[in-house]
Amino acid sequence: MSESTQPSCKTIKTTCAYCGVGCGINATVNTDTREVTVKGNEDHPANFGRLCSKGSSLGETVGLSTRLLDPQINGRQASWDEALDEVAHKFKTIIDKHGPEAVAIYGSGQLLTEDYYVANKLMKGFIGSGNIDTNSRLCMSSAVSGHKRAFGSDTVPNSYEDLEQADLIIITGSNMAWCHPVTFQRIRAARERNPNMKIVVIDPRRTDTCDIADLHLPLASGTDVLLFNGLLKFLVDGQYIDQNYVESYTQGFEEAVAAAQDDCPYLGTIANRCELNEKDLLTFYNWFAETEKTVTAYSQGVNQSSTGTDKVNAILNCHLVTGKIGKIGSGPLSMTGQPNAMGGREVGGLATTLAAHMDFHIEGDADRVARFWKTDRMSKGVGLPAVDLFNAVYDGKVKAVWVIATNPAVSLPNANKVKEALKRCEFLVVSDCVTNTDTLDLAHVKLPAAGWSEKDGMVTNTERCISHQRALFPLAGNSKPDWWIISEVAKRLGFEDAFNYSHQVEIFREHAALSGFENSSDQRLRDFDISLLADISEEQYNNFEPTQWPITKEYPKGKARFFAEGEFYTPNRKANLVALKYKAPANQPSKEFPLVLNTGRLRDQWHTMTRTALAPRLNLHRPEPFVDIHPDDGHKFKLTDGDIAKLSSQWGDMFARVNFTASQAVGDVFVPMHWTQQFANHGRMGTLVNPIVDPFSGQPESKHTPITIAPFGAD
Ligand code: SF4
Repeated sequence: MSESTQPSCKTIKTTCAYCGVGCGINATVNTDTREVTVKGNEDHPANFGRLCSKGSSLGETVGLSTRLLDPQINGRQASWDEALDEVAHKFKTIIDKHGPEAVAIYGSGQLLTEDYYVANKLMKGFIGSGNIDTNSRLCMSSAVSGHKRAFGSDTVPNSYEDLEQADLIIITGSNMAWCHPVTFQRIRAARERNPNMKIVVIDPRRTDTCDIADLHLPLASGTDVLLFNGLLKFLVDGQYIDQNYVESYTQGFEEAVAAAQDDCPYLGTIANRCELNEKDLLTFYNWFAETEKTVTAYSQGVNQSSTGTDKVNAILNCHLVTGKIGKIGSGPLSMTGQPNAMGGREVGGLATTLAAHMDFHIEGDADRVARFWKTDRMSKGVGLPAVDLFNAVYDGKVKAVWVIATNPAVSLPNANKVKEALKRCEFLVVSDCVTNTDTLDLAHVKLPAAGWSEKDGMVTNTERCISHQRALFPLAGNSKPDWWIISEVAKRLGFEDAFNYSHQVEIFREHAALSGFENSSDQRLRDFDISLLADISEEQYNNFEPTQWPITKEYPKGKARFFAEGEFYTPNRKANLVALKYKAPANQPSKEFPLVLNTGRLRDQWHTMTRTALAPRLNLHRPEPFVDIHPDDGHKFKLTDGDIAKLSSQWGDMFARVNFTASQAVGDVFVPMHWTQQFANHGRMGTLVNPIVDPFSGQPESKHTPITIAPFGAD
């Protein structure tokens, strides 16, 4: 059962609101006082009872003082009918006049699967535009593109438990100790049980993750393709290739190896170009070559790049040629950032994808989805990914935007331009659970959405595990679930029959049915198949226990691993080894902007702090925006440790407290992503970040922006 009751309180099994680890929580709730105490759910396969600082503070974030509790139109309180009528009327007017491409939805990996599904169905299936994208574009879209390029499908081949079974773990592009803390705790515990386990951390910074590293490779920012192309060449030269796997289950070997050899003729060259010690590089290559059970866990440091997809494929190439994939303790593991980034991928939450892992560019897929939805208004092609979308708003081509559960005025690159775009937008609707954000403040219509403690639906974590996030309280004030809000607008746009849902389970059943629709003769679509849940009862839904997909008659309890025996989702079922040439980051340091800005998360804050800032103890960790800089650079730029500095790039400025630290490489600085105008008016790091994107994934290069720095008041 998911719920137990005592005289004065009840305990409800739910999931954490924050990162993609997707920890299970036992929340003990007093509905009279709205008090919640949380403990890790010992039965949940993501965390087995563990929680990090953010998850364990969730009870401090459920108060109503910062909650948006009523709809508003142009600053005045309105009824739901008025607000929904206004949204539908304005969208319809703009669509009628300018076509469906003149409107857009921008959502979030915070949305539950049911919310995400309905939003995509409305925009792609009934409004008839691909213009629905999500902030997951900023965190893992390069992993999606890399998976599809190699496997033919967006399939994570391994599971968390493989990290505990491995003898070698490579953590690359991830400060896992802060960003996926419970997974990090699991690795640390596994290492204590397995003294032979080795851990390599690849990161330009020396982060807390390095505390457990046997080897830290502080590679030069952006040189990941060189590093892994060098590994591929090393594996071929040393005859560490799994010939049977390569010949039976892959294609493109010769071309991929030729490209790697071209890029990386000598070990010394790679070490030089990656700015690594040659001996350390050789140690890493030898460990990878000689360790059968090897997991490479990667995250935003790989994905957030103008060559993010190539970086992902450089990692996948090395695992594929050695057959280290989909096996116990062996495989690549893309760590997702947000609680339901994976659920978004399932429903086609990106502007470039379709529901149930179908794709616009594959003939017949859009028609298949259209048949399932019984619509003749299906979008004919992809929509605009996040950066392009807000450029189109800025240029006046997209005239109405509905932002749901995210804050693009802060989080997108070139954030000043995004903010200006939102100011120019003819009609901006924002659904959120809080009273103000930089984006919400600009909205014509504000719609109060249910918060974490009131939402009820499914989320999927990094390892493809679907869990039920359950409501702890009744809806606050006049707030409503996102799926309800979207469906009500859809009905007012004339799509009554297709959006006539009365409970989220109906949406989940439809989502599950679509995953198995007309796919019996199409192996390509069977990685994400949860059609066994298409008839799930409300009771089964309420009591649903965490399960990895696929969930079919063949795999009723899910499947932990893919691809040990090939069977990829390409037309000939073989994986693609991708020929890769190293490309330097798009914007290089210059005389005017000589330093490289890296950005990321802190241990105790989440995104733009709308919830974590409500927990006093979380604010103690790092209470204000700061810039980490090597003392040599600090002195060079005449900074004083602890004083305020102005950081400037070609795209904008911000101010931050200077922190001298040798954990930064000379020439690099680090700024956290969290602060907004509410918390620090001039501390928005998005104003600095360059808007260059990866050509395959559309993911921005948030880890490499040329900047300069000066003491406050120096200009
Ligand atoms: Fe929540 Fe992630 Fe922490 Fe788990 S690791 S408690 S999901 S923030």
